[in-house]
Amino acid sequence: MSENVPSEIRLAEKRLILRWSDGVEGSLDSRRLREACRCAECLSRSKEPSSTGLSIVEIRLLGSHAVTIGFSDGHMRGIFPFTYLRELAQ
Ligand SMILES: [Zn+2]
Repeated sequence: MSENVPSEIRLAEKRLILRWSDGVEGSLDSRRLREACRCAECLSRSKEPSSTGLSIVEIRLLGSHAVTIGFSDGHMRGIFPFTYLRELAQ
């Protein structure tokens, strides 16, 4: 499981760049991340959020296995485990 721990996470405008401990680099744009958000609010919404112009404003580490991502529209409820991010970035 150690390959699913990023050695680097950084923000590049509207993208989240992840470098994994095995050297693989992946990136996810804000729209993709928002669509993949699995918080109760997003899961109960029947249509896609308006993600035009949406950007990522904050990344907060949750322990050693996940991050919370804050979006520019104020949404910050989703928890993204590293294993999930790795899956998404492939
Ligand atoms: Zn959400």
